[in-house]
Amino acid sequence: WPAIFVNRSLALGNICCFGFDMDYTLAAYKSPAYEMLTFELLLERLVCIGYPHEILRYSYDPTFPTQVGLVFDALYGNLLKVDAHGNVLLGTQGFTFLSEAEIWGFYPSKFIQRDDLRVSMFSTHSSTCRVRAGWGWGRCCDTGYHLFQDVTDAMDNVHQSEKTLENLEKYVEKDVSPPLSFRGIPILLGKMKEVGKVFLATNSSYNYTDAIMTYLFGTGEAGATARPWSSYFDLIVVDMQKPRFFAEGTVLRQVNTDSDKLRVDTYTGPHQHCAIYSGCSSDVVCKLLGVRGKDILYIGDHILVDILKSKKRQGWWTCLVVPELSRELGIWIQEKERMEELKRLDVHLFLHLLLHLSLQMLQESVVDQERANLDPASCLLSCSRRMNSCLLSHAGNSLNSFFFIYLFFIFLVFLGPHLWH
Ligand SMILES: [Mg+2]
Repeated sequence: WPAIFVNRSLALGNICCFGFDMDYTLAAYKSPAYEMLTFELLLERLVCIGYPHEILRYSYDPTFPTQVGLVFDALYGNLLKVDAHGNVLLGTQGFTFLSEAEIWGFYPSKFIQRDDLRVSMFSTHSSTCRVRAGWGWGRCCDTGYHLFQDVTDAMDNVHQSEKTLENLEKYVEKDVSPPLSFRGIPILLGKMKEVGKVFLATNSSYNYTDAIMTYLFGTGEAGATARPWSSYFDLIVVDMQKPRFFAEGTVLRQVNTDSDKLRVDTYTGPHQHCAIYSGCSSDVVCKLLGVRGKDILYIGDHILVDILKSKKRQGWWTCLVVPELSRELGIWIQEKERMEELKRLDVHLFLHLLLHLSLQMLQESVVDQERANLDPASCLLSCSRRMNSCLLSHAGNSLNSFFFIYLFFIFLVFLGPHLWH
């Protein structure tokens, strides 16, 4: 991986169980090919449930800026970029960006409660496809809510499409950089198995999971392992129905891998090696593997389902996969010098502004002194008061006047001559 960021100390030596999600974690999908397929299937699905045929003429636009972390306001049908405090920074309706005045019109305090029921956060790479798919023609609806609900339901329906499996080479990444290449994954999982247990826990069906994993492990190909993909895991659970999986869960059933059908009865026995299970809950997974929640490091791409729920409800350690970060880091490294230059210019501009204000205040105070024939101490006091009030209005802080008097002299004595050059 290009980089790993840590926001909490973790002793990896204490981890004795590693869990993996599949979609967008072990399996990376090709962009924009996969999103384009999803988009087409989504439109077809929406037409099936009653939307007009005209929507089929819309085409997927991969250039429309959508990222993980954006939020959708279902009340007004707006897609918003919101900061950590809930302040609205940018907004679009359909493909049109909202003006500053329009944002103030929708949100009188330019603020939105992010935990409001009407607000949904896009927490995975796949969900950004919904954004492009749905909001492009969001204006054709009275409100965005019905569209949001229909697109979300339709998206769940078109995931795991047969069309993906018909052309895996077109839609699934295989030769990505190690360790997530088809040669790297078996090595990674093999090393993890040397120090603990490894499990796969995915919302996808067995049929879909088997096809994707067989392709990823390159079974039967030159240079690939001869072992079946399932032998790299101590436990495999499909149809998990996350986030329900991390709460009450569903019935645990065993999958008949020959017929791809579920055994009817609820499975209650011990974990059988090489068996594949469907449903269940995180508690059952811990029981089958003989581990506790704090022994598990779960790796997934969904902020809410894979990371937040597993952490908050079960105390699992978590690792979030964010493919977009590689691009962001690339830009940051590439533009680092320019960013440093911008920072330097910002400081320079601020110093000039300060100096300009100081001189202006001094000049006005001298004029005042001449007019009122005041003594020099009164003049300086007047000057500092003026400068203080002016700078406070610019900087918006509450530094006292002594600080500004101090700054004033620093500028005159040390920085003034330098800036004049
Ligand atoms: Mg996933």
